[in-house]
Amino acid sequence: MIIVLFGAPGVGKGTQAAILAERLNIPHLSTGDAFRQAIKSETPVGLLAKRYVDAGELVPDTVVAQIVEEALSQPRFLPGALLDGFPRTRPQADALSEILSKQNRDIHSVVNIQVDNSAIIERLLLRGRADDSHEVIQHRLDVYQAETQPLLDYYASKGVLVSIDGKGAVADVTQRILSVLPTATA
Ligand code: ADP
Repeated sequence: MIIVLFGAPGVGKGTQAAILAERLNIPHLSTGDAFRQAIKSETPVGLLAKRYVDAGELVPDTVVAQIVEEALSQPRFLPGALLDGFPRTRPQADALSEILSKQNRDIHSVVNIQVDNSAIIERLLLRGRADDSHEVIQHRLDVYQAETQPLLDYYASKGVLVSIDGKGAVADVTQRILSVLPTATA
């Protein structure tokens, strides 16, 4: 089962993905984590991605799509995947649908986690990751609004979009997500 966790930077996608991976027994695939790991290990992808990640820009679509395609071809993703941080642009959404159709799979649900911007900025400043300076956070939010948010309409038109409130305790948000996924997954 392919589930996309969707939402602005800082809405808690990574936190929820880690919990849901255990609850649903489906592995978590975070493109952000993949890039941070590649940057740390100084792989060719990491060297390419570093300046984009540091600046809060999107890594080029083709690079991201290739990483996701490679990952989703691994046997451990046969049961499905919880996608976190991908797709983030329309070309990435198209790439995902192509990757999945080659594998005879489809997106089951896109879960839109909603938190307002002021709460997001507060959370990210507390997190304090290298790319979490006030300036870079604001830029990531602007990029989200321009490039990623429009995908909500696209997935709504496909009938796979569900939205939940991402505020409050982590466990409450998890429950809200589980409650909107079909019973077979709960
Ligand atoms: P956040 O959601 O808090 O911005 P992520 O860990 O998802 O954090 O992503 C960190 C950075 O990795 C992004 O700002 C971007 O540079 C890069 N990145 C992650 N996923 C993608 C993607 N799908 N397309 C392009 N760049 C990405």
